[in-house]
Amino acid sequence: MRAAIVGGGIGGLAAAIALRRHGWSVTLFERAAAFEAVGAGITLMPNAVRALEVLGLGAAVRARSLSGHSGIIADSRGRPLVRRELSSVDGDGTRLVIMHRRDLVELLADQIPAEDIRLGVTVDAVTADGTLDVGGHRHRFDLVVGADGVHSRTRRCLWPKARVRHTGITAWRWVLDIEPPGLVGVMTGRAGEFGILPLGDRGTYVFAATPRGVHDLDGFADWADPVPTVLAATEGKLAHRDELLEVRPPRRMYSGRVALIGDAAHAMRPHLGQGAALAIEDAVVLAHHAPDLLAYNRARIRRVRAAHLLARSVTPAMIPASASLTTVRDVALRITPDALPLAIPTHLMAWRPPGQPPL
Ligand SMILES: Cc1cc2nc3c(=O)[nH]c(=O)nc-3n(C[C@H](O)[C@H](O)[C@H](O)COP(=O)(O)OP(=O)(O)OC[C@H]3O[C@@H](n4cnc5c(N)ncnc54)[C@H](O)[C@@H]3O)c2cc1C
Repeated sequence: MRAAIVGGGIGGLAAAIALRRHGWSVTLFERAAAFEAVGAGITLMPNAVRALEVLGLGAAVRARSLSGHSGIIADSRGRPLVRRELSSVDGDGTRLVIMHRRDLVELLADQIPAEDIRLGVTVDAVTADGTLDVGGHRHRFDLVVGADGVHSRTRRCLWPKARVRHTGITAWRWVLDIEPPGLVGVMTGRAGEFGILPLGDRGTYVFAATPRGVHDLDGFADWADPVPTVLAATEGKLAHRDELLEVRPPRRMYSGRVALIGDAAHAMRPHLGQGAALAIEDAVVLAHHAPDLLAYNRARIRRVRAAHLLARSVTPAMIPASASLTTVRDVALRITPDALPLAIPTHLMAWRPPGQPPL
């Protein structure tokens, strides 16, 4: 059985590994000349780590990341809003990990033999019978995995009505080569969301998100330390900046012999840190069921739709729309037991791979 994978991001690479482990012969097409790790750091929630375990990469990921390091959620003055640590609410001892994206992509790519990879090759069109158009040549496969990201060509060919939604939120991500100068975690307030996470000997992963219409980081300048210190250390550093985009999951994540995974199927807001996690889960579940794509869809659709919706619903809490809503949010979070705001991430983190008993 031959499978083609369109796209070599985290989802496509995970799918190549997973399908090979299930005996498929795999060809992965990536339009870039080399595997690229867009962004800076990444948080892999316990569900992502469990999916990586299935790919045989649990130990390798832990060796190249900081595990069990979790931070607080605080307001713009640094006062905690949620005191319980996110990683301590999980049931089976699997801890979230924080790592450099480049390390994750390198780890995944290293598992795939060079002869299975076509770099610098763009897939021009995909048809439901498993045919790919590549540079004027047609190739037929038993299975095609559309892992080509938020602007997926695969999705445009077979789900032409699906739309990319612009949120107006701007996200910045960068890495500093210093240790975190203080608080570790996420601060949120009227100016947006500001995260500072440790990357061990790789430095500090910093991310920020600003509301619609705000295209600079000036609003964070008067936040409590360590935000100003981090901003000062950032002067002149190149931050990866993009608008957050969403794709609502289609009713069916497959058409004929073609399945969508990752951002191609369900690009979502990153507040819950679940986009790449779900892409890796998709890969593992798809390989488990393939070539039965109906079973793949049944196993995934409710979960990815729920995660997509939950990620949207969190925006008003992480990036409040006004100063008064920020105050209301802060008061509400302070009087609410931590279990309540953590219920959504906890629910998503509890995923177990196919064949393993639920938590
Ligand atoms: C600010 C921000 C922070 C985030 N933080 C986290 C986090 O902490 N944890 C987490 O789990 N998720 C996070 N995410 C989400 C995560 O980054 C994405 O969900 C994930 O990277 C999607 O992977 P993918 O493989 O589906 O798509 P992509 O990474 O977009 O990969 C698609 C690949 O397909 C290739 N391609 C596209 N078209 C073609 C074509 N026609 N032919 C051949 N190749 C093609 C592209 O070059 C690319 O390499 C974050 C997202 C953002 C925006």
